[in-house]
Amino acid sequence: MTLIAPGGRIGILGDGQLGRMMALAAAEMGYYVHIFGQEDNSPAAQVSHQSTIARYDDKIALENFANSVDVVTLEFENIPTETISFLNDFVPVRPSRKVLEVTQDRLLEKSFINNLGVGTAPFANVENIGELTNAVQHIGTPAILKTRRLGYDGKGQTKIDHASKIDTAWAEMKNAPSILEGFVDFRLEISVIVARGANGDIETYIPVENRHKNHILDITLAPADISEAVAKRAEEIARTIAAKINLIGLLAVEMFVTAEDDVLVNELAPRPHNSGHWTIEACATSQFRQIIRAVCGLPLGNPVRHSNATMLNLIGDDIDQWSEILDDTKNSLHLYGKAESRAGRKMGHVTKLLPIDEKPTT
Ligand code: AMP
Repeated sequence: MTLIAPGGRIGILGDGQLGRMMALAAAEMGYYVHIFGQEDNSPAAQVSHQSTIARYDDKIALENFANSVDVVTLEFENIPTETISFLNDFVPVRPSRKVLEVTQDRLLEKSFINNLGVGTAPFANVENIGELTNAVQHIGTPAILKTRRLGYDGKGQTKIDHASKIDTAWAEMKNAPSILEGFVDFRLEISVIVARGANGDIETYIPVENRHKNHILDITLAPADISEAVAKRAEEIARTIAAKINLIGLLAVEMFVTAEDDVLVNELAPRPHNSGHWTIEACATSQFRQIIRAVCGLPLGNPVRHSNATMLNLIGDDIDQWSEILDDTKNSLHLYGKAESRAGRKMGHVTKLLPIDEKPTT
């Protein structure tokens, strides 16, 4: 087990807002951060000690990066697994290649989860239109067709309301290997963020409710309005997955809660997550400090919350409201340093703290 003491150097693959908030937490804890990304003046590079702009297959840049740090982690799970293996010859990479292999592919991910005895939506592997037709017959409609790889914020997926839509849905996938998922008529969407340290210790944050707009996270309510039994089940699921996948780092588990209070896993993200931003203000240890502790081999921090919270994403032009947001002294405003605001682009977020006995609402 490698311990990286404060004063050490952390490499982060990816240069967006998650890397930025990880780098800020690392700096507060006395570490130096080196960002490996693709963009000039990126959100993460702006606040880091060092940055490299290169492709993930640039072996010279990767070797120099690896030699400049004590551990590598990531803010984005779709880093090519070859890149992770290459880096791992020089320096520990946390989370591991195995974690990324599973979480980069919806088929492997859902199979892994089911094999642990944890429920998901029913799903079927689909590689051609014949398989899609069979899968629709088997699973029924409505259903959602999703590419196995590289989908996020609703990209790479399409809903099939009726068997007559099979042709157009398959055309949208452009022959990419996909899965068909049964549509879950959920009561609410929740997530649990779990951390696992290098010594195997596990800590979870409380389940929160996530509401989406145009497939992008809009609001997180902490805690989620669910029974204690459902909260316990959700946390247990997150712990089991973190342990069985041998995580070192942080993992967000997105779940559906049905009208019958069943908990089904939708998706895993092996990194800090948008639904954990509220932890910066409301918890003893934020998700960003927690991942730094985990990947450096430090003891995990206490994830307990001292306040309830709502977190609102600022997407595109929402950022123009920064002045009114600051007028409310309960608001904590976070901006990501992105020069250009585009529709659908996450520009910042606002967290509002509430007393621990007050229900978060929108
Ligand atoms: P994903 O990219 O898989 O996280 O899906 C994005 C969003 O689409 C989720 O947060 C849900 O709101 C919705 N969604 C995805 N899969 C399903 C499903 N099987 N049933 C119902 N809604 C879904």
